Amino acid sequence: MPTPITLPPLVLTALTTAMRIAAKTDGAPARCTRKACRRTGRCHAVQDRSGNPDCTGRLSARAEASAVDMLVFFYKWTRDRASAH
Ligand SMILES: [Zn+2]
Repeated sequence: MPTPITLPPLVLTALTTAMRIAAKTDGAPARCTRKACRRTGRCHAVQDRSGNPDCTGRLSARAEASAVDMLVFFYKWTRDRASAH
């Protein structure tokens, strides 16, 4: 079994936010067993230190890829802005 990767807190926070946005777009809150997700229509999942979400709305592979795309965009945007100064 592979050793889980521990993400830095800032990356974990960004990943959680991206995953929640992707989950909402994917319709996960309506499928979730968590009442708060169904009631508000948005994902309330938390992630462990490896970045694994606990949402029972079961994100599609497409939604997971979308969350990763958001992080790549943010990384490139901040890197480009830093190199412009
Ligand atoms: Zn949920």
